[in-house]
Amino acid sequence: TDFIRKRLVIGNWKMHGTSVQNAALLSSLGDYAGSAELAVCVPFPYLAQASQSLEGSAISWGAQDVSAHAQGAYTGEVSAAMLADFACRWVLVGHSERRAYHGETDALVADKTQAAIGAGLTPVVCIGETLAEREAGRLQEVMLRQLDQVLALGGDALSRIVLAYEPVWAIGTGQSATPELAQEAHAFIRAQLERAGQPQVRVLYGGSVNAANAASLFEMPDIDGALVGGASLQAQEFLRIAAS
Ligand code: PGA
Repeated sequence: TDFIRKRLVIGNWKMHGTSVQNAALLSSLGDYAGSAELAVCVPFPYLAQASQSLEGSAISWGAQDVSAHAQGAYTGEVSAAMLADFACRWVLVGHSERRAYHGETDALVADKTQAAIGAGLTPVVCIGETLAEREAGRLQEVMLRQLDQVLALGGDALSRIVLAYEPVWAIGTGQSATPELAQEAHAFIRAQLERAGQPQVRVLYGGSVNAANAASLFEMPDIDGALVGGASLQAQEFLRIAAS
């Protein structure tokens, strides 16, 4: 293969932080100079703060959700163009917390993916099974269902996305998937990307990644980086993950 999937580590702050806390965290990250690509996805109200603090640094920023609509009477929604206006590079799409608590369907996730691409953002499309689904032997079926409408967007769109495999049972539990279990899922996802002619799409692992387990996950051939929740709120821990 003649492409390189550059290591990518993205922090997902979720609904955490204050202006004062963020200022400290962002300034500790600002002089990052490692070889992995590093980014933070912050709550909407702090996009201006993140962009001002990180502008000119090696760290890029993004949001955690985006509207599928371009503009209009959609109270409470934030468009992809607005995110681009704040120089976002990334936006998370279809995080399991959005799917579970906000009823996001596979069709909506595909629409949001398309909207993000249209504004020049890189959508980080999140998929992953629940514990019940895994235990019922439905892992591959669930991933195929979650990928189907995204893969149907076509090669031009797919070349502009990142995927994140986040088993729901590993998110925020302290129970990361073992590198072997994660690799198994990533290899399956890679096979779908290969069938779609897009083997170079990066696939991040997410779910209780920390400085202690990142290196063993990153050793796996189909794990191209991490989507990091809790551990991204502490600068030194997050930087250690990036250096893993
Ligand atoms: P976690 O969250 O690292 O706190 O498990 C990951 C995520 O939900 O993106």
